[in-house]
Amino acid sequence: MLRWLRWAHEGRSIVTEVGGEAPARHVILTVDDDPGVSRAVARDLRRRYGERWRIVRAESGADALDACRQIKLRGEQVAVLVADYRMPEMTGTQFLEKAMDVFPYAKRVLLTAYADTNAAITAINVIDLDHYLLKPWDPPEENLYPVLDDLLAAWCKQERKATPEAKLIGHRWSAPSTRMREFLARNRVPYRWYASDSPEGQRILSAAGQDGRVLPVVITQEAEVLVDPAPGELAAKVGLATVPVHEFYDLIVIGGGPAGLGAAVYGASEGLRTVIVEKNVFGGQAGQSSRIENYLGFPSGLSGGDLTYRARLQAEKFQAEMVHTRHVTGLDVAGATHTVRFDDGTSVSAHAVILATGVIYRQLPAVGCEALTDRGVYYGAALSQVGDCAGRDVYVVGGANSAGQAAVNLAQKAGARSVTMLVRAPDLMASMSYYLIEQIGAIPQIKVRNCTEVIETTGDAHLERITLRDLKTGQTETLDCGHLFVFIGAEPRTDWLEGVVARDSRGFVLAGPDLSADDLAGWPLERPPYHLETSVPGVFAAGDVRAESAKRVASAVGEGAMAVMLVHRYLEQL
Ligand SMILES: Cc1cc2nc3c(=O)[nH]c(=O)nc-3n(C[C@H](O)[C@H](O)[C@H](O)COP(=O)(O)OP(=O)(O)OC[C@H]3O[C@@H](n4cnc5c(N)ncnc54)[C@H](O)[C@@H]3O)c2cc1C
Repeated sequence: MLRWLRWAHEGRSIVTEVGGEAPARHVILTVDDDPGVSRAVARDLRRRYGERWRIVRAESGADALDACRQIKLRGEQVAVLVADYRMPEMTGTQFLEKAMDVFPYAKRVLLTAYADTNAAITAINVIDLDHYLLKPWDPPEENLYPVLDDLLAAWCKQERKATPEAKLIGHRWSAPSTRMREFLARNRVPYRWYASDSPEGQRILSAAGQDGRVLPVVITQEAEVLVDPAPGELAAKVGLATVPVHEFYDLIVIGGGPAGLGAAVYGASEGLRTVIVEKNVFGGQAGQSSRIENYLGFPSGLSGGDLTYRARLQAEKFQAEMVHTRHVTGLDVAGATHTVRFDDGTSVSAHAVILATGVIYRQLPAVGCEALTDRGVYYGAALSQVGDCAGRDVYVVGGANSAGQAAVNLAQKAGARSVTMLVRAPDLMASMSYYLIEQIGAIPQIKVRNCTEVIETTGDAHLERITLRDLKTGQTETLDCGHLFVFIGAEPRTDWLEGVVARDSRGFVLAGPDLSADDLAGWPLERPPYHLETSVPGVFAAGDVRAESAKRVASAVGEGAMAVMLVHRYLEQL
């Protein structure tokens, strides 16, 4: 039985709906200073979500914050906060920012009038707003519920994993520890990091019966102790699938970046039995981007991790099977059967295959760099390291957009004291988008050193110094440096396709009109290859791995979708 409760707090009122003997439900909290609108929002929310969620409404930011604290005290969680933007005393943005201190994982939605759209867009950056809704939102079935459904689904996913969290005990400068932090962070497995030499870390290690000589140690949510586990073992223990369920599929997608995820979403949603296989972490390069600003539909940008996580949820929703930490090392073709081999000798087959294996970072050719990788030298903006950069002087190598984004992120979000970009070219104009050059110019902590290359990295257990050479004068300089983030381009890793599909001299996969007569010497069909089809019928290439591709998130996603359309055409002829 439901009853209404009015809490009185120093004359302010918070109206909430509580369930009598029903078990505690998590909360959707809405705040609007106009009582009529406030009631209307609560009514619409209750109509759809009232059975599963407790709807709490408040009529000012202060009251809503009070409600948050009360909810916390009762051991409940707020899943979604819906705040009106224009409120006296405290704007919706200010309220959401404060509420984040109490419920950092709550999804944040701002209600705005059309005239306040810019404020909402600003809020996307300031408070990582998840969505803004224009008032009036009628009909809610079209304008309110789809957004809320999505946010609640995402929150449930994160929430299910959030309690209890895994523990990771490692050393700050150990490469395996860094990789494991990155793995858990990018897979959104909630975990807490403990330095092995901290009192807390020591205490947990000893409780787990470990002396800390072999690190990292993971204690899973189920309290199982894993000592330096392989990625596959860790993935399986934290609930990520690592083995395909079936032996045969309509479609195997290799690579879990934007192109692969795009293909998986379209393949599965269009009825193909689809499996997508990723060797590291779903998200690909895009998952490492701190802010993608040129992806259609996100005017203020969003982090690559967020974008690709949403894509994962979408692929799962359509029941694409996601297989983690499996490295594909071979492709066999026997008539219309394509068999994909894994590095452990097992395999899985399908009618069609989409190659979406992208590219990986080029290694910095500086003396000593290899040994210090993941111990101060990082490829990409390692999520797990960004937190360690607060108050430090850090360096970014590279002059393209990815380096620019990382520099902005390190300066603004990670709170680095200074960020120095080391660029070989005389300026950024040739390699970086104008909007980023402008952003960088406006951030005082970021300095750009042009005509400079890193020639040596040194340090005992971790990076301590870098030596730079001025390309104009030849002069060298050695500087103290603990964090070097490298973004110097990327190349495909497609050796395993040698002798199977045609590739260009750099290893990019040739497809459609880029295939020459020589490449098609063994082509068995009367029709020419479709646009994204490789030199083998039924094998398609999408995204960065394809020769002549645009190397952008949107084009990778688009090619993934288009490849699925061509798979359908191919299957019709089988
Ligand atoms: C830091 C950074 C910032 C960027 N910012 C932007 C931006 O703002 N805007 C923009 O448009 N583009 C941006 N890009 C480029 C964009 O991310 C890429 O174009 C896009 O990710 C390409 O997608 P993809 O799926 O083709 O390949 P990838 O993203 O490279 O994904 C390929 C995936 O395949 C997996 N894989 C590879 N080989 C195998 C194998 N043998 N077996 C199993 N799995 C395998 C990899 O582990 C990887 O996850 C950025 C790139 C970087 C690195």
